[in-house]
Amino acid sequence: MKQLMLKKGKEDKYLRGYPLVEKDDVFDMPKMDEGELVALVDAGKRFIATAYYGEQNKGIGWVLSLDSTEKIDHNFFVKLFEEAKNDRAYYENVDGINAYRLFNAEGDGIGGLTIDHYDGHLLVQWYSVGIYRLKDRILPAIKEVFDYKSIFEKRRFKGMETASDFVAGEAPEFPYVIEENHMFYNINLDDGPMTGIFLDQKDVRKKLRDHYSQDKDILNLFSYTGAFSVAASENARSTTSVDLANRARPLTEANFGLNTMDLNQNHIFIMDVFDYFKYALRHGLSYDVVVIDPPSFARNKKKTFSVQKNYPELIEGALEVLNENGNLVLSTNSSAFPQKAFKKMINQTLDHLGVDYTISDVMGLPKDFKSHPHYKPSKYLKVVFVQING
Ligand code: SAH
Repeated sequence: MKQLMLKKGKEDKYLRGYPLVEKDDVFDMPKMDEGELVALVDAGKRFIATAYYGEQNKGIGWVLSLDSTEKIDHNFFVKLFEEAKNDRAYYENVDGINAYRLFNAEGDGIGGLTIDHYDGHLLVQWYSVGIYRLKDRILPAIKEVFDYKSIFEKRRFKGMETASDFVAGEAPEFPYVIEENHMFYNINLDDGPMTGIFLDQKDVRKKLRDHYSQDKDILNLFSYTGAFSVAASENARSTTSVDLANRARPLTEANFGLNTMDLNQNHIFIMDVFDYFKYALRHGLSYDVVVIDPPSFARNKKKTFSVQKNYPELIEGALEVLNENGNLVLSTNSSAFPQKAFKKMINQTLDHLGVDYTISDVMGLPKDFKSHPHYKPSKYLKVVFVQING
């Protein structure tokens, strides 16, 4: 096994459990192949950890073990998958939910690999060429540990478009219907980078539905397949979903249909959100709750959008169409926007506008998206519920 020597003093952070191998910590980079196992050693060549080499957006690989005698073989992966499976056992016993994350990358011990369970249809996602090169060791362990009807994969490599493939079992027909908290959503595991639902928002959808929607008019911005609107529609007076992409309309209509929701109370606009603010003002439309869950970056004909730069404009726009004593649900999944900075941005924006408000709930990832205790960015989802007073 090749050795990767750490700079003097850098070994402590890895000994304490930091899982991401960072280029800046390494003294000298020998020539390595993606997927190659390497031994991290300190300046005195003392063993620190076994890692695999894999270039991702962040880092050059992930620590797999701090035990020099542990082999990274079939049994290693079986053991981690079994632990992850036991950890998710509670979902098997919860009524009305059959889609959740089975294995969450570094949170479960293997950075760069996730496995989602969609009613027995598994989606394996590989986030670097390196982890993908370990597929021959990992896939048999997945098949051994998890019950499955079918397995699909997505390869999400740095600088390349996401590619999807059927891997094993019996492929279902898509769209396939999954259940979440007694509501139904279409998914497709074989169509582009997204599946139709973001499983990491399941607790937020439930919170919105059960605590913020009763007899309310809800505006859902960046609505994609309308999942927030569908959840809210159970209790809301009306929902309005806004997304720029044409595909959003049929996908959203289908999700309302699955839940027998009336499209007369559940509106869909294919429009840029900033244009929609103007449209709503022109037409005297206003809302009790505005949900904002944008992509981290987006580019359209007119401009580029980034959550770190443009979130205040979204809040400002939302306030203009918000009824008295309304609520904002502000979400971001950008790991480049830590919770502290996100909250600060919200406070500064609202203070600057002279708004009286209370933060009523702050949510993060659900427990199936297990995070790593020594790696903060793994808690990437931040959702802040704001109550506007007056
Ligand atoms: N909130 C969604 C996920 C959003 S995914 C959910 O919970 O499922 C991001 C969506 O933003 C995509 O569907 C994309 O089409 C849309 N989008 C990107 N830029 C936009 C813009 N300027 N106006 C409206 N929608 C936009």
